[in-house]
Amino acid sequence: MGFRRKIVAGNWKMNNTLSEALSLVDGILTNLDASTTTEVILCPAAPLLSALDSHTKNLPKIKLGAQNCSEHVSGAYTGEVSAAMVKSVGCDYVIIGHSERRMCFNENNKQLAEKIKRALENNLSPIFCIGEKKEEREKNIHFNLVKTQITEVLQNFSAKELDKLILAYEPVWAIGTGLTATTQQAQEMHAFIRKVLEETFGKLFADKTPILYGGSCNAQNAKDLFACDDVDGGLIGGASLKASDFCSIINSF
Ligand code: PEP
Repeated sequence: MGFRRKIVAGNWKMNNTLSEALSLVDGILTNLDASTTTEVILCPAAPLLSALDSHTKNLPKIKLGAQNCSEHVSGAYTGEVSAAMVKSVGCDYVIIGHSERRMCFNENNKQLAEKIKRALENNLSPIFCIGEKKEEREKNIHFNLVKTQITEVLQNFSAKELDKLILAYEPVWAIGTGLTATTQQAQEMHAFIRKVLEETFGKLFADKTPILYGGSCNAQNAKDLFACDDVDGGLIGGASLKASDFCSIINSF
């Protein structure tokens, strides 16, 4: 990966009350290597963002991301959170299209394209998640499937508009299952994704866009995964809830 940014993002999902979140952040600060050059992004649930922003404001190494934003600008969408709101409470990033959002909330590619648009309008970096289900890999359609996820969602943007984009390859069969992709599976898919980016947006764009791996990445396997040429870091679920594990992952480059 060499010249690209190194990024580790923690997706806390629907875990942590405010007091638990504050102690987790304190634990991360205690364990974090002061000389790390890795971008560290914490993605807590939306109600915690504002308090975490105050808690981490003077810590340039820690950035905040939301787990989702609405495809709508504002209005009568009870329960939804807009990209502008997310930005207003200190986020620089937002996860878009996590497989749990696609599966539990039926988010589709058209909607995800709108969400990315809202994120970019609000100067947020989208962390756009793609990845195949187990049966799609078994049918050997995983490369085509991932290509379609990328092209259908991103085709109407220019490379310039997507300057802040981060991709996260998260094979659905690896998320929360303990079944990590092998380094070979991760590298071949990341290289493929970079090729799709090159065909669609050009080599410069493909070379500089970070592609994170997600799916049962932990303190034991992160080093090998991050050593792959096209893996630029990780989107971490379960292992981001324990400060020492999360920091070991950050220190795995
Ligand atoms: C995720 O939810 O993005 C994720 C990668 O989860 P886990 O690390 O728990 O597999």
